[in-house]
Amino acid sequence: MVTLCDVGPRDGLQNESDLLPATTRAELVNRLARARMPRIEAASFVRADRVPQMADAEDVVAGLERRDGTEYAGLVLNLKGYERLVETGLDRVNCTLAATESFNQRNGNMSLDQALTQAMAILGVSELPTTATVSVAFGCPFEGRVDPGRVAELCEQLDADELVLADTIGVATPTQVERLVGRVLSGGRVVGLHLHNTRNTGYANALAGLEAGATVFDASIGGLGGCPYAPKATGNIATEDLVYLLEGEGVETGVDLDELIRVSQWLEELLGRRLEGYVYRAGAWPA
Ligand code: ZN
Repeated sequence: MVTLCDVGPRDGLQNESDLLPATTRAELVNRLARARMPRIEAASFVRADRVPQMADAEDVVAGLERRDGTEYAGLVLNLKGYERLVETGLDRVNCTLAATESFNQRNGNMSLDQALTQAMAILGVSELPTTATVSVAFGCPFEGRVDPGRVAELCEQLDADELVLADTIGVATPTQVERLVGRVLSGGRVVGLHLHNTRNTGYANALAGLEAGATVFDASIGGLGGCPYAPKATGNIATEDLVYLLEGEGVETGVDLDELIRVSQWLEELLGRRLEGYVYRAGAWPA
């Protein structure tokens, strides 16, 4: 049994050029919950002038049906965001920082040290379950390949209930995933993966991570999302494709695949374009 987290309403929609209103974003979360997603990253508590796609996080959360059996998470970058999240009554805090100095500087306008201090501050005060996501854990658009030792060291300093290793620009291959997951697990931590399919290795990486002992997997409905440093490229692995793969391999996800496929079909219509995922187009099998 693994825990799947759909990050479509956050990571996915954040990369859309169209701004969807809070009611539509809440509806997406509610549809995912009806497909029995164990966890959904529903919102991001960041500044609306920086990320207009994620504006009105409070209104998104107010529109949630709050199904039993689904954990609703939110992304925060600092204590201010954490306080906003707590006010809304979400279930889980996901704080994030990048593994490299340059990515923190270019993406978050702060040093790695500052980003680490902020993440530690959130983890230090949080009374909710916590996830710490380390982005560019395998490769960085500015620094190239990232030393796994450096990532493992960073993880040791993060007192989160679980650590998610993110292949933000989709460059990892299975052996690298297997090694890094093994290394972080050996510190006695719960390890998750946030994989992108930018170079079509995302699903192979998921299987390698599973074998190595990762138990939390982020994915995005329909494969929604992009790669911020490769505008023509695809983003996250698709949740329904991952569910099909895992269930076929005998791994229980608890997700209703048929219902999940209907969410992608709805989303395709809403966005007016074909999505990256395969399974929602091909259908589940056997039907
Ligand atoms: Zn992502």
